[in-house]
Amino acid sequence: MALMSRSSLEAHDLYRFYHAEEEETLALRGVSLRVEPGETVAVVGPSGSGKSTLLACLAGLDEPDGGYVVINGVRLTRRSESERAAIRARKIGIMLQSGNLFAQLTVHENVALQLRLAGTASATPIRSLLDELGVGHRAGARAGTISGGEAARAGLAVALAADPAVLLADEPTGEVDAETERRLLDVLRRRGANGGATVVVTHSDVLARWADRIIRLQDGRIVDE
Ligand code: ADP
Repeated sequence: MALMSRSSLEAHDLYRFYHAEEEETLALRGVSLRVEPGETVAVVGPSGSGKSTLLACLAGLDEPDGGYVVINGVRLTRRSESERAAIRARKIGIMLQSGNLFAQLTVHENVALQLRLAGTASATPIRSLLDELGVGHRAGARAGTISGGEAARAGLAVALAADPAVLLADEPTGEVDAETERRLLDVLRRRGANGGATVVVTHSDVLARWADRIIRLQDGRIVDE
């Protein structure tokens, strides 16, 4: 893998407001962060603190009202949806709670589809990746029929498949036992050793402690790093 001299991910002064009737929610109020190649950053904070909004803005799935995101030196913010989608497909692996699996496709097909979208071949055979994540036995099952915990790991396989420069994952170790969590950490460790940058939103103390850095959000601001 080529050595990258610049940071993998930068967020500059992100703001995100939601309006509903008279109510205005300030979901993000000036969040800046920088993740270097090989680094894993855990984002923690109470429910409603802005973690999901931050992840969506970092992924370019949501547009911040202020500030911008740079991925591998390329600005992601304030581009057309198709441009953002193209950058996303090449550079970012995303695992969200809302799910990133097509229910009608098998787990294996979901991963294969992601590789086609990214225009790349998998560094690791799909079946090996699924085995490592503990869902190899579900490779042939339709995604709509597997359990929540299996779907989380299959979703992580989709996010990891193209070995993206940036991995953004919401609770990647949710609903797994301690042994599976250790396996997932091995996969993330190898990713870091290969220069991949990772941001995880998590409630897991094990995962947060394992990360290189913890960013704590409260009321849309970073309160502790
Ligand atoms: P977390 O992921 O930390 O639980 P969120 O990013 O989901 O926090 O939410 C941050 C704040 O923004 C919360 O007050 C939430 O109610 C509000 N919010 C999030 N999404 C929307 C939306 N689509 N419309 C209105 N308010 C929203």
